[in-house]
Amino acid sequence: MSGTGGACADVVVVGAGAAGLACAADLLAAGLSVRLLEADDTVGGRMRTDRIGGFTLDRGFQVFNTAYPQVKRRLDLKALRLRPFTPGVLAHTSDGPRRFGDPTRRPRHGGPLPAEGASVRDTVALGLLSARDMLAPVSWLRGRPDATTATALAEAGLSAGLVETFLRPFLSGVFLEDDLETSARFFHLVWRTMLRGTPCLPADGIGAVPAQLAARLPDGVLRTGARVAALTPDGVALAEGGGLSARTVVVATGQSAAARLLPGLRVPPGRTVTTLYHAVARSPLAEPTLVVDARRRFLNSCVLTELHPGYADDGRALVSTSVLGSPGPDATAAVEAALGEAYGADVADWEAVHRVTVRDALPAMPPPLALSRTSRFGPGRYVCGDHRATGSLQGALASGARAAREVLADLRAAPDAPAAAPPQP
Ligand SMILES: Cc1cc2nc3c(=O)[nH]c(=O)nc-3n(C[C@H](O)[C@H](O)[C@H](O)COP(=O)(O)OP(=O)(O)OC[C@H]3O[C@@H](n4cnc5c(N)ncnc54)[C@H](O)[C@@H]3O)c2cc1C
Repeated sequence: MSGTGGACADVVVVGAGAAGLACAADLLAAGLSVRLLEADDTVGGRMRTDRIGGFTLDRGFQVFNTAYPQVKRRLDLKALRLRPFTPGVLAHTSDGPRRFGDPTRRPRHGGPLPAEGASVRDTVALGLLSARDMLAPVSWLRGRPDATTATALAEAGLSAGLVETFLRPFLSGVFLEDDLETSARFFHLVWRTMLRGTPCLPADGIGAVPAQLAARLPDGVLRTGARVAALTPDGVALAEGGGLSARTVVVATGQSAAARLLPGLRVPPGRTVTTLYHAVARSPLAEPTLVVDARRRFLNSCVLTELHPGYADDGRALVSTSVLGSPGPDATAAVEAALGEAYGADVADWEAVHRVTVRDALPAMPPPLALSRTSRFGPGRYVCGDHRATGSLQGALASGARAAREVLADLRAAPDAPAAAPPQP
């Protein structure tokens, strides 16, 4: 192979986030030789956890849900030592805190049904929406015409009051945008997952999820610290020099890097989020509950040590708070003031221990949203990741699985040639 040299594999997968890990695992299970190249020093991509100063700090707050089909299929949940959040959320409003319960769980688990102070009309409307999302087949949800989530909530008969107090503050933390312009198809799938599953976090942080997938790979498959600079006619070239030969390359890098490696690939814009971590002498809320702000000065906040006391070595409480975008120092002070109101706490002695901004944390998902898109980009070239499905762990894993299926189908159809596929930007 010209210019790149090195070992040869049936398939090179570029990027060891959830999508690349799932794709590599499925190709290996089918008997192919696979090399998985990761630019970073470890796997996980957007699902990484750092241990800094005795704190367990995810690179951006995220929630693990047990109801994702790909999660059930691939992960040993017991080994993750999951602890659940309280179902529902606590909304900080101008009238004080108000609980928003999970309409399918008993009050002692989920608070009022569905919300403190909700009208009968809202209670019925949300109950109907929830029952349908929980019970209808996914194919039905997929097949319906798409619209924005704002439109879908209005069409479901939910009042502006309920939307502004609970649903917009909560969903903006899920979509990482607060106009509710995200696809209603995605909203219904997320709502279904939340109703059917349990939101929780692993004892070692969200990074334990990809770490478990990586631990199952045979020796010699994964190479970290290997940044792919370009795709070549017969494989990939590495930024450090040299490269790998492969008949087939799957780009599983996340949307921006994928667009660089595959010129002509269309990718959606990304959403940016910042998570602030504070260490506090005493927990400001003695329960593992997501707090949202109806005035939307922050997206969500929670006391992580109420789930896992081990997230802070020194016995203090660790509070995670996320905000849209990348706020400057002035905005951070305003967020801290809002936290003081929301928790009813004096934040003067809260220690800011860490802050992380994630660009392209999620792909934008405006309607109409195709919940799954082909990985075929061109002959011998495939692309997967959450930007080809939905911005979620489920979307990333499912996209990786789809890429593996399409690679295998093409190799079986033309075993001696690079898989021929029409370009699909
Ligand atoms: C702050 C935040 C909150 C989230 N909250 C949730 C949530 O609550 N629930 C949920 O389900 N999902 C959530 N998500 C989304 C979920 O984490 C992602 O959808 C998923 O991790 C994406 O996986 P991926 O494999 O598609 O991409 P990535 O995780 O981005 O993986 C791409 C990998 O490719 C590597 N790479 C890039 N360029 C190169 C190159 N040139 N050569 C080699 N390797 C390269 C990267 O280093 C990375 O490891 C959240 C994400 C963030 C960031």
